[in-house]
Amino acid sequence: MERWNYVIRNAKLSSGVIVDIAVQDSRIEAIGPRLAEIGQEEIDAQGQLVTVPLVDAHIHLDTTLTVPHRATNHSGTLLEGIQRWSEIKPNITVQDVKNRAREAILWEVAHGTLQIRSHVDICDERLTALHALRELKDEMASVVDLQLVAFPQEGVLCYPHGKELLETALHEGADIVGGIPHYEWTREDGISQLEYLFELAHREGRLIDVHCDETDDPESRFVETMARLTKIHRWEGRVSASHTTAMHSYNPAYGFKLRRILRESGMAIIANPLTNIVLQGRFDDFPKRRGMAPIKELDASYVPVALGCDCIMDPWYPLGSGNLLQAAWMALHLGHMTGTEEIDRVFRMATINGQRVFNPAQPDDLGTQRSADLVIWDATSPAEALRLLPVPRTVMRHGQIIAQSQPSHHQVYYQGQALTVDFRPRSAQ
Ligand SMILES: [Zn+2]
Repeated sequence: MERWNYVIRNAKLSSGVIVDIAVQDSRIEAIGPRLAEIGQEEIDAQGQLVTVPLVDAHIHLDTTLTVPHRATNHSGTLLEGIQRWSEIKPNITVQDVKNRAREAILWEVAHGTLQIRSHVDICDERLTALHALRELKDEMASVVDLQLVAFPQEGVLCYPHGKELLETALHEGADIVGGIPHYEWTREDGISQLEYLFELAHREGRLIDVHCDETDDPESRFVETMARLTKIHRWEGRVSASHTTAMHSYNPAYGFKLRRILRESGMAIIANPLTNIVLQGRFDDFPKRRGMAPIKELDASYVPVALGCDCIMDPWYPLGSGNLLQAAWMALHLGHMTGTEEIDRVFRMATINGQRVFNPAQPDDLGTQRSADLVIWDATSPAEALRLLPVPRTVMRHGQIIAQSQPSHHQVYYQGQALTVDFRPRSAQ
């Protein structure tokens, strides 16, 4: 009778339906109510939510875990962050980067993230961070898929040998072409940078992911140029613009036009709400603007939106634990996406939308004949996961359990009794 490697019983899908999930070798072989065959190992999900893993679509693993010991950003601005990092950068070593990034990846995996897109600063003659993360990508392939973006943190045209470094990085292990047009000295140079990046990506057959318009300046409009270049090069589905925080300061008429051309261009937007609510608005007195692309309006306009942690304890963001649910939690607050369906949409941004950005050929949701990559949450719905931000009970990758945690247990001593509290409402049931 025994047939499958694993059968996960009483798994609640995002739709609310309770099913059993059978896993054989590295794949999901069957999903349905009360599967008859048993597994060599049976896992009772106890009605908890089971989903595809989280995707951290934007992080900087080379700068992670450098604060507070090596730098502090006193002004809290993006520009001071770049300055502080440029002071740390000459002293990093391959081993140092690997140690910090490895630790951060383990935190991400424990939180249910199995695909990570990391930008890597290539404004360094030695390309130390790239070599470190390239090695780590292979070393940690059993627990995570890592994509590396060649990221010219200090510009391309305004940095010595910027183009050479970018091209060398692509030939020495970077997967994706990165950029930062708003950091160039003039708008014209920013446009030239983008034209160069698209030609390079086209020539090399690479995806593109550009730090774009990460400023409160409403005159910063490089994302429209990215949309146009995506069309010209027919690179639909292969281009992402990250941050795009200037978008929250565009006037409504321009914002409306921009969302139309973004949808038609087939570009994705990657928002990083944790870092950007810290960095943006620093030059405002009052009111202080929010630091996030308008994800609600983008999502409603059918522009794919994914999410990133961006930073964990680095010169741009001193907090963080590699938990993408925190980013999603912040996103739904800043984006006013608190309606029941909207909360589910934000959970999709953290999972399915991220998958599409990471690998456009990837299948959507949990289903048979796909790799057994899944998360058993300590929550019964996407909304509860975003309310409680739990660490997953079980994380499975390619049919192997790679992370587990015990559900937390809390007691309150009240009127002579020890009452168990789990933050799930009972009185309303
Ligand atoms: Zn970034």
